[in-house]
Amino acid sequence: MKLRERLERLGQWVLDRLLPAEPARPFRAITAADVPAVLTPGVVYLVGEGGHHWCAALRCPCGCGATIQLGMLREVRPCWGATVHANGTVSLTPSVWRRVGCRSHFVLERGRIRWCSPAGSGAGPRTH
Ligand SMILES: [Zn+2]
Repeated sequence: MKLRERLERLGQWVLDRLLPAEPARPFRAITAADVPAVLTPGVVYLVGEGGHHWCAALRCPCGCGATIQLGMLREVRPCWGATVHANGTVSLTPSVWRRVGCRSHFVLERGRIRWCSPAGSGAGPRTH
């Protein structure tokens, strides 16, 4: 009993050190009817019904754990577009810029995060 517990703890310890906090795998897209309560890192949830998406949700890739929600309705600005590629990876346009919290600014391109210049440099999604 005790030994088994110890082994399990050791196994978890090894896993914790082998697995990075944020996945090295590219972001992929999952279609959902609603924003999930818990977001899996490395997944962009395309929320909508009947092939129409009204928002995309993902966990902030900086590791702060925040949920980022991006509006995808054409009538509402800003409006993001998502492209799901044949290999399951996803691109988001324009760039994502958090105005609160960690203030991360990045582009998601074919499942890969490309970090942008620090906040305040004047770049970012147009909100006209
Ligand atoms: Zn963050």
